Amino acid sequence: MSAAAIDLSLVVPMFNEEDNLTALLADCLPALERVTARFEIVLVDDGSTDRTAEQARRAALADPRIRALSLRRRFGKGAALAAGLARARGARVVTIDADLQEDPAQIGLLLAALDEGLDLVSGWRRHRADPLSKRISSRLFNALLRLVTGLELRDVNCGFKAMTRDVAGDLNLLGGRFRFIPLLAHWWGYRVGEREISHRPRRRGVSRFGNERFPGVLIDLLTMLCLIRFHSRPGHLFVAAGAVSGIAGFGICAYLTALFIQFGNVQHRHPLLALGVLLLIIGVQLVATGFLGEWLAYERRGQEPGYRVRWETGREE
Ligand code: UDP
Ligand code: MG
Repeated sequence: MSAAAIDLSLVVPMFNEEDNLTALLADCLPALERVTARFEIVLVDDGSTDRTAEQARRAALADPRIRALSLRRRFGKGAALAAGLARARGARVVTIDADLQEDPAQIGLLLAALDEGLDLVSGWRRHRADPLSKRISSRLFNALLRLVTGLELRDVNCGFKAMTRDVAGDLNLLGGRFRFIPLLAHWWGYRVGEREISHRPRRRGVSRFGNERFPGVLIDLLTMLCLIRFHSRPGHLFVAAGAVSGIAGFGICAYLTALFIQFGNVQHRHPLLALGVLLLIIGVQLVATGFLGEWLAYERRGQEPGYRVRWETGREE
């Protein structure tokens, strides 16, 4: 099958899902067949320690519509997704978790949203069948994201998503960024939305994500927000913060200098003196860091355009 002939790729990240793979394929194959005859399934084994990799290889050898790859070790869901998206050849790409908590029969529902003009659609697990602690932390996470980004999404980190080829190629998912896929797509100017989907408890195997992930997720969120706000000019954040600190420190020191000129001493304002000097030093350091950041970003701009084109005359497909 040539690359251009594929309408739809289904990408599945898997870590120790040996008990789910057979059922997953049994559900996905008919669901995909209903949408198009020209589909592929890309199974990505994320360094499983059970028989997942072997099973994936066997499935791929038995069915030409299935491709499989196995990462050398467990790199995390984000890396597994990135590996799968990089290999997906379809005009549209759907991602789904291997544990069948989402229903492959609803792939059509997500694709319909792409037909309506969206570039990326995320599942919304309205009645989420996960432990209460997870539902609460997810609610908080999504509320926080809505607050700071203004993007009206209720379930940013649902594993069941559909997107166009362009979006799939534009996501850089390393680290924890896979949790923010709709945000990344939105930031590149793609039309992003969500559709309600059904959700059920994990039937076999164990969940890999508990609440221990939370401190890391908050750091990822901060990094994401900085990236989004200051993407191609990272230094601005530091220069601005440094300027505030430096100016405050300078003001304090100027005031103390005036006191010294008037009275010959600083009138016992030594704590203030310490603060002023501290703010000045912090300010200079932040400004220097900022300019260094700008310098590095300037070098990088040659490699990454930093924008995406929706259309261009003379280059229509
Ligand atoms: N997964 C992965 N690498 C990891 C953790 C998870 O590829 O390090 C896969 C996992 O096999 C599943 C999907 O990511 O297909 C979602 O994981 P899980 O069901 O454990 O997450 P939850 O639904 O509990 O949030
Ligand atoms: Mg799951």
